Amino acid sequence: MNPLRIPLTSIPDEGLPVSVEFTGDDVRPADAAELPVKRALLEGDLTLMGQEALFRGSLQVDLEQPCDRCLEPLEKGLEVECTWFFEPDTGEDAQLEEPDVRHLDKDTVDLGRYAWEEIALAIPARYVCSDTVPCPRRDAFVAEAGGIIDETPEGNRPFANLKDLFPGLTGEEGKE
Ligand SMILES: [Zn+2]
Repeated sequence: MNPLRIPLTSIPDEGLPVSVEFTGDDVRPADAAELPVKRALLEGDLTLMGQEALFRGSLQVDLEQPCDRCLEPLEKGLEVECTWFFEPDTGEDAQLEEPDVRHLDKDTVDLGRYAWEEIALAIPARYVCSDTVPCPRRDAFVAEAGGIIDETPEGNRPFANLKDLFPGLTGEEGKE
């Protein structure tokens, strides 16, 4: 049984506390690309409102993928507050509905499906170690990008390459 798929009939009147740890593959739709999710935790409360359901809680995710710039493996945490309202899927008026309406899967709340969507939307487009202290850009990456050097420390010192051409000019003479 998928612990993120909860039948309406199993939600008591007082609500159902939810605390489920999962990985990206646990919630990945069959046709979706893999997300760099190392582990995720969905916590909150699911309440029944007639034939509708409300989940309120939070999603904590540990991402792991290479840094866009230095290519070192990089972990990032993200947390998303969730207020998900689930309505029965009538199959009608799909075009007219609010884009954020969530549907029950028959009589089941599929929290995993929407956890997947939240994670996919929350992953930063620019995935780097730090925006303020640039990590060293890999040569391979620079070459691939057409040799563009921008915010690396070397990029701010236009004469840095001179030390390769004229080793004697770089102040090394100060050492004994
Ligand atoms: Zn980096």
